Amino acid sequence: MSVLWVLGAGQLGAMLKQAGTPLGIDVRPVDIESTETLTLHPTDIVTAEREEWPETIATKQLATHSNFVNLATFPQLADRLTQKQWLDRLELATAPWFPVESDSTAEKAHQSLGERVLLKRRRGGYDGKGQYWLKQAESIAIPEEWKGQAIAEQAINFDEEVSLVGVRGQNGETHFYPLTLNLHINGILYASISPLERLKPLQSKAEAMLSKLMEALNYVGVMAMECFRVGDQLLINELAPRVHNSGHWTQAGASICQFENHVRAVTGLPLAPAEIKNQSMMINLIGVDLNYEWLKLQGLELYWYQKEVRPGRKVGHLNFCSGNHSVLQTALVGLELPPPYPEALAWLAKNLP
Ligand code: ATP
Ligand code: MG
Ligand code: MG
Repeated sequence: MSVLWVLGAGQLGAMLKQAGTPLGIDVRPVDIESTETLTLHPTDIVTAEREEWPETIATKQLATHSNFVNLATFPQLADRLTQKQWLDRLELATAPWFPVESDSTAEKAHQSLGERVLLKRRRGGYDGKGQYWLKQAESIAIPEEWKGQAIAEQAINFDEEVSLVGVRGQNGETHFYPLTLNLHINGILYASISPLERLKPLQSKAEAMLSKLMEALNYVGVMAMECFRVGDQLLINELAPRVHNSGHWTQAGASICQFENHVRAVTGLPLAPAEIKNQSMMINLIGVDLNYEWLKLQGLELYWYQKEVRPGRKVGHLNFCSGNHSVLQTALVGLELPPPYPEALAWLAKNLP
């Protein structure tokens, strides 16, 4: 039987493996620092849990395999500059931006993008790392080392943040989960909730946007599109050519989770629409210790990533899915988590229908 190799052995790789197991797919996440010689067969398939990787003994072996799905797309989306160029080329709405070049100045940035401008490093940023705010009132200059390495983006006064997770098969067939409402605190995702009746009017618009992208890239697998909602408009914040944190709720709340959909798509298995079970919500565990007392809460599913706990580090998540909204409200009251969690729990409670 052929193997599905995953470049990267973090939590996403582990959850892909978990999803592939009942399908009889041998999913093998590979640590990028591994020095092992991999026994790759020509019929094996390769995917990735990350957008970008350094050249190592492990990644060289995987990236030279002829069945590395979407290989050419990763560098296009991993670099914010080329990602933004794709959005512009496809006429998909995104925050106004320009590339930060050697002659770029904060003054010019404010002239073209307004009082608040967000510099984002082209590569390697995640969880809001690799961001730098330019505020006109504070006359902050563009750091020299960011020139040529970043894009400048207009600060968007969004109403809220939503994301769409979709999957595209080898035959071009697509399926989408309902839009997810996301709360970021200091650039890092704390909580998600889906489905929401009030986001339904935006669903077809969002699907058309992500379809256009996946089609243009001839993409196969799960892709996530993070958006700012401004009134009834959606501006694309960024794209992730992989399974995505804002789709973790599908493990509890959908008949086929995002991980299974990705495994099915890249291995050429049939796709089918996921049945959405009930109201779901997800809470990221960021810099908090494992606490098995959580398991006493009705409706809770714990995913602990077995990583060392450090401040600001994602070490697990909690999924909840229930048709009984009082079960969800009770869980939110019962969770004892340090700041800024009270804000995140209150946000979920407020958004529960
Ligand atoms: P991720 O972990 O999602 O990959 P990231 O580090 O790649 O995050 P972004 O998604 O670009 O970074 O930004 C993180 C968060 O910062 C966004 O979810 C949003 O809350 C805020 N943000 C990003 N861009 C803007 C903007 N142009 N205006 C206002 N807020 C923004
Ligand atoms: Mg990102
Ligand atoms: Mg993001």
